[in-house]
Amino acid sequence: MKQPLVTIVGRPNVGKSTLFNRIIGKREAIVHNLPGVTRDRHYAVSDWSGKSFMLVDTGGYMPTSQDMIDLAIREQVDIAIEETDVILFMVDLTTGITDIDLSIAEKLRRTERPVLLVVNKTDNEMRESETFQFYNLGLGDPQPVSATLGRGIGDMLDHLIHFFEETPKKRKPILSSWR
Ligand code: GDP
Ligand code: MG
Repeated sequence: MKQPLVTIVGRPNVGKSTLFNRIIGKREAIVHNLPGVTRDRHYAVSDWSGKSFMLVDTGGYMPTSQDMIDLAIREQVDIAIEETDVILFMVDLTTGITDIDLSIAEKLRRTERPVLLVVNKTDNEMRESETFQFYNLGLGDPQPVSATLGRGIGDMLDHLIHFFEETPKKRKPILSSWR
């Protein structure tokens, strides 16, 4: 993959934006408004070990009613599957697996896109053993991170860039100036 597009998906409050900001550092994000429920998306070029990629944060705007949240997340995941090379699916250690996580995981298990399962809020080593529960999502090895503390981010990015070696599946171009 030349310059892969990596989209962070997950339900509200798992820490997607915190991770996005930690990875992009001081770089500026491009804000792009799409029609639909999950309107605003933030893009920023990032790199790790000399590999450049475009990172996407989704779902900055989230409706308040449960039905609309479900719809928004479904839309967010569908767009990610259609337009992304690698999906970073974030879950939250402090809440464990929720119903929304299960429905996102079900969709993601059916896609051919590589999916990296990231367990955020793993704030200390003692909690790492608790991340095993996320094997039940059927999406491979859970990667423990703490977006606020910066724990596990390097290891997680090492796993992420391995996916870039895989044969790219065709996806829709997302920005006219970048493909
Ligand atoms: P988003 O809705 O998925 O984008 O989540 P946010 O990035 O806005 O974070 C939601 C809340 O979780 C905020 O209060 C963050 O400070 C908190 N949070 C994010 N990452 C971590 C983490 O690694 N550990 C802990 N304990 N809290 C976190
Ligand atoms: Mg957010």
